[in-house]
Amino acid sequence: MIVKKKEIKNLKANGLWRLLCDYRPTGPVTGVVDGRPVVNFGSNNYLGLTHHSLVIKAAEAAVIKYGAGSGASRLVSGNNLLYSELERGLAGIKGAEAALVFTSGYQANLGVITALASRNDLILSDRLNHASLIDGALMSKAKVKRYAHNDTKALERILRRNQECQRKIIITDAVFSMDGELAPLADIALLAHKYDAILMVDDAHGTGVLGKHGAGAADYLGVKDIPVQIGTLSKALGSLGGFVTGSTKLISYLLNKSRSLIYSTALPPAVLAAAIAAVDVLIYEPELQLRLRENIIYFKRGLRQIGFDCGLAPTPIVPIIIGEPEKAQEVSALLLANGIYAPAIRPPTVPKGTSRLRITLSACHKRQEMDKLLDLLETLDLGK
Ligand SMILES: *Cc1c(COP(=O)(O)O)cnc(C)c1O
Repeated sequence: MIVKKKEIKNLKANGLWRLLCDYRPTGPVTGVVDGRPVVNFGSNNYLGLTHHSLVIKAAEAAVIKYGAGSGASRLVSGNNLLYSELERGLAGIKGAEAALVFTSGYQANLGVITALASRNDLILSDRLNHASLIDGALMSKAKVKRYAHNDTKALERILRRNQECQRKIIITDAVFSMDGELAPLADIALLAHKYDAILMVDDAHGTGVLGKHGAGAADYLGVKDIPVQIGTLSKALGSLGGFVTGSTKLISYLLNKSRSLIYSTALPPAVLAAAIAAVDVLIYEPELQLRLRENIIYFKRGLRQIGFDCGLAPTPIVPIIIGEPEKAQEVSALLLANGIYAPAIRPPTVPKGTSRLRITLSACHKRQEMDKLLDLLETLDLGK
């Protein structure tokens, strides 16, 4: 038996069995599912850049000029000259000395954490951190201590008790991917300084969304001293790839030590060109960010009016906690039948008992589309 029958039975019995759903995009936030036109409230395409004309043109030109694939890893022969242009642009918006692009955000986190931490080091990790941070920490073989979500007192307790440990790394999401909350980065940066710990922040969802020119959560919160920052090109930037920013010294170290960079093929030229164009759009079309911000305010105000508590974070991730996984899927299916695509998120992606709809907003959503979703949510009995 190749598969573990018992695992399958367990997943199915607990409402946690996963299936893929064919999606045919027709625009940045519209598509077709099961032959039905839908408005997509479940993607991380926050600015609609997957379909921006400049981004598409750049990708087209690059595939014709340089071919479809990159042919090798970056250190062998796959380091298309577009990488250095992209990395300069990313370091620029983040206000860092240098940047290093990986093939995905997941790989960036694995590569960076395993390069910075090893046995005998201590990683302090927020309990709600993204799976890629958890996996990187596990792979590093460092000792991992998880602290209660956004609880700086708990974090400080662990730091105080482990002062003898030479190398401590605090790792946190900047914008929590399933809740949309911000981490208290200013307080965490202070603690890192006080206890001589390295701070690594994963800003996958803040990049392109928050701060000046989409510089991210740290810029939005006015926090300057974060030596290791992760971002992704796959969300607001509408392309694919992950990146780390920091000092030139850090970046050249990571280039030598990050196995997920060294042993994986470089990104295709079209993807790099698309990301370069997307960074330009961040700088030259700030109105996209503004429109996203207006949509976030509009939708959250609407939710509050129909009795949902959705917090005050200025992020496009809006969780509607439902509880049991079966019920969350039921609600998601009901919305789908009404032309709204908002996937149910279940354990282990979120803690047990907190299955939810994860609604994500985009600059491209129209008021009438958000109104329709609000009307549907009002008619559903979600026991809020
Ligand atoms: C999506 C995400 C990643 C992974 O990025 P990819 O580019 O999709 O691999 C990493 N960290 C966080 C917090 C994310 O939300």
